Amino acid sequence: MSEPVGFVGLGIMGAGMAGNLLRAGFDVVVYNRTAARAEPLVTAGAQVADSPRAVAERCPVVFTCVSDTPDVEQVLFGDNGLAQGVSDGSLIVDASTVSPEATRGWAATLAERGVGFLDAPISGGSEGAAKGTLSIMVGGDEASVDRVRPYLDAMGSTITHVGPVGAGQTCKLVNQILVVVSMLGVAEALVFAKAGGLDLEKTIAAVEGGAAGSWMLANRGPQVIRDDWRPGFTIDLQQKDLRLVMEAADEVGVPTIATSTIFHLYRTLQRDGLGAEGNHALVKALERLSGIQARQE
Ligand code: NAP
Repeated sequence: MSEPVGFVGLGIMGAGMAGNLLRAGFDVVVYNRTAARAEPLVTAGAQVADSPRAVAERCPVVFTCVSDTPDVEQVLFGDNGLAQGVSDGSLIVDASTVSPEATRGWAATLAERGVGFLDAPISGGSEGAAKGTLSIMVGGDEASVDRVRPYLDAMGSTITHVGPVGAGQTCKLVNQILVVVSMLGVAEALVFAKAGGLDLEKTIAAVEGGAAGSWMLANRGPQVIRDDWRPGFTIDLQQKDLRLVMEAADEVGVPTIATSTIFHLYRTLQRDGLGAEGNHALVKALERLSGIQARQE
């Protein structure tokens, strides 16, 4: 029988990922701070533990997927955290999007105790987590990556070992710069199109097949013009990631002019209570500046 694998953090992403480990035939031990959120996985065949520590005591490999840097810190080193349950040779794989610098610190602390650590942040949204088609950007040593590859293959379709520990998080922040700058381009273009008297559906159809086309235009452009703000990814989580980009860019001394501007535009939307809307609601910040609404008539 294969060794059980642990999963801590059964939110939008973690629930889908742990579900795919189960579907692939692995024995899975789960923990979630809010216990009720673990119930669907238990129904699907997972065992439940009552703390991260208890998960680590039962599983040599444990995945984590929680919200922000202090949350991973708490799950790792807090009371009844994973670090209290690990043994020599345990391996922890963090799929949250968090600080690359903090990640390197955790890996160093755990290495002193003979415990391995990989960062494996994810892209692909709740759909990708549910379908097992995530892009997973992995940082850490080759042997540890090989050890968890069967699990990664069950959860993602693009697994890229991008470098040493912390490199996965840096790559995820690259991903986030590309996402928001693309979104700003779509937002600015649609507001301009509306102000110029164009039909927005025809405008998107006219440009999306050429060099101006993008995933963001094709998927979020139609949502914007139809007044549909349902989140694939919320402004609040996006804002957390942009804060991580700016902190990491500061550490390496790189100006992030576009990212900083977008961070502040999102901040105005958060102050207006729109943090739970999808990140394409960025257009609303430009609409307020221009007085033009980019909606289809
Ligand atoms: P979510 O639905 O809000 O779930 C967050 C999870 O973290 C919950 O299980 C929550 O437990 C747990 N948690 C938070 N703080 C904790 C703490 N201090 N101690 C223990 N557990 C804690 O978030 P999500 O969308 O799954 O995102 C998880 C991570 O994946 C984030 O870093 C996010 O940026 C990243 N991500 C998300 C997406 C996306 O599209 N949603 C895409 C790529 C990457 P409770 O249930 O008790 O609150």
